[in-house]
Amino acid sequence: MEFLLQNSVFRMACSQFDRTADFLQLPDAVRERVKWPKRAIAVSIPVRMDSGDVRVFSGYRVQHHLTLGPTKGGLRYAPDLDMGESAALAMWMSWKCALVDLPYGGAKGGVACDPRKLSLRENEAITRRFTQELIPFIGPQVDVPAPDMGTNPQTMAWILDTYSTHIGHSVPSVVTGKPLGLGGSAGRNEATGRGIAFLAHHAAHQMKLPAECRVIVQGFGNVGTYAAIAMAQYGSKVIGIGDVSGAIYNPNGIDVVALRQFVDSGRSLAEYTEGEHITNEQLLEQPCDILIPAAKEQVITGANAAKIQCRILAEGANGPTTPEADAILDQRPEILVIPDILCNAGGVIVSYFEWVQGLQSFFWTEAEVMDKLYRILTHAFTQVMRTAEEKKIPMRIAALSIGIRKVSDAKAARGLFP
Ligand code: GLU
Repeated sequence: MEFLLQNSVFRMACSQFDRTADFLQLPDAVRERVKWPKRAIAVSIPVRMDSGDVRVFSGYRVQHHLTLGPTKGGLRYAPDLDMGESAALAMWMSWKCALVDLPYGGAKGGVACDPRKLSLRENEAITRRFTQELIPFIGPQVDVPAPDMGTNPQTMAWILDTYSTHIGHSVPSVVTGKPLGLGGSAGRNEATGRGIAFLAHHAAHQMKLPAECRVIVQGFGNVGTYAAIAMAQYGSKVIGIGDVSGAIYNPNGIDVVALRQFVDSGRSLAEYTEGEHITNEQLLEQPCDILIPAAKEQVITGANAAKIQCRILAEGANGPTTPEADAILDQRPEILVIPDILCNAGGVIVSYFEWVQGLQSFFWTEAEVMDKLYRILTHAFTQVMRTAEEKKIPMRIAALSIGIRKVSDAKAARGLFP
């Protein structure tokens, strides 16, 4: 699988892994076994477009390890998605699930397409054909997709329908993050963002930051929106928000719900008048208490890590901080990093709740879901914090070491077949 190393996001995930494996002193044979993905599937997806032309899209699904149960992770629809990025994201899902004790290996994948340029019918056709191609490789006990960038509960509903039609009866647990009316879980849609806000607020409280923290959120999709709304509900002031069209900065505070309604009405964030317009790069460097990158990978880099001005870096996105940036942040003890595999784990935790509820056909209230979610996040945060302090290692390495250790121990306990 060396070809994956052509991708910079995969190299980044490997560099984090290698650094953690060094810390854990994992023998070479164990490293190799734990690091590389078990399966990397690429499919061609021929689709008739609204114009009548047929276009062939590339779809990917990487299943990182099969040691603990089905694989789990989102599907991303993005123009530049490839196998390397999917493999990196699958690897992070493995450490994330292990860190919070979910009985899953990591997976990730999606389709290289621009969902903003597709009609609803084209999007549905791509999704259904992609699912058809993946049928031998997914299922409630095999691999369970969920939403990620560019996909949503409707995407999951189409996958559920296509898969169930093939099986001959409804199989809701083939996906999570599906609509409530199809067996989705209360709280799943909001879970990633709310989990990030919960942990950021928890950390701010421990660090005795002022109750009205200044928060900047880069990314205004599902994750960024719910993180910003929840931060405002905790009494923080959201002073900056960015999306693909640009960023808005207002030191007096942004009404996040009003901005969400504005963007949902079809206008772009760049047209919003209640604040100053700046670039996403400038947004990341504004002074604040809590900085939440909640968009893409590699936005905090060697070029801007020395310039960010926050006390807490709460990583909502997967892989927002490069290893070069980590080296700089390691020298900035005034900043607490809540690493991605911990910070954004709320999404997959509630996905797990959804899967469990579906398999039992027994559903929980939103209060039960959120209570269980916050307990798991608090426990994981405490464990990571304690490990970082005791071993004098960065928060990222502490979180990764807990996840990687659990996966390598599980593989050792199972032994090697044959
Ligand atoms: N895509 C989300 C993540 O990166 C959620 C995955 C899931 O719920 O399976 O964690």
